[in-house]
Amino acid sequence: MTTRLKLRIYGDPCLRRPARAVLAVGPAEKLLIREMIPAMYAFDGTGLAANQVGIEEKIFVADIGEGPFAVINPEIIRVSEKKTVLEEGCLSLPGIHVKVKRPADIRVRYLSERNELIEAELTGIPAKVFQHEIDHLNGCLIIDHASKAAMDSFAEKLSAGLVPARKKEKVRA
Ligand SMILES: [Zn+2]
Repeated sequence: MTTRLKLRIYGDPCLRRPARAVLAVGPAEKLLIREMIPAMYAFDGTGLAANQVGIEEKIFVADIGEGPFAVINPEIIRVSEKKTVLEEGCLSLPGIHVKVKRPADIRVRYLSERNELIEAELTGIPAKVFQHEIDHLNGCLIIDHASKAAMDSFAEKLSAGLVPARKKEKVRA
């Protein structure tokens, strides 16, 4: 699958700027979502945040095995005390994997593509994917969760500049 959207790789300032809230999901947002979904599949990702393709709006798309969906203006309104670790990859950081410790369960509130306000309890992989994508929309990346030792091991890769890879990972978003 091809896409006209260009994946932004680590070093691009778009990835570090918090995205703007969407006032309402209108035709422009719907068009963007329609373009982001095939782009996510083309990049072989589980999720894709708009600022990963240079659009600084609080929108992400994901497919956690039950088909694609869009999430607009997501907020985490509750987190569990229990945290779990998952090795995460990121489309914008090819070749880098970080064991990220995050709350195991979260409650989220967001707008759907149809402007419906949704609240949901998430657990397992969906909880991790939402947190990974919400991090993106806040300008945060998986390396921000890495230990000093892990960061030292990435230093060479990061300074050499990253190039998109094709390796399939469990969760890459
Ligand atoms: Zn990512």
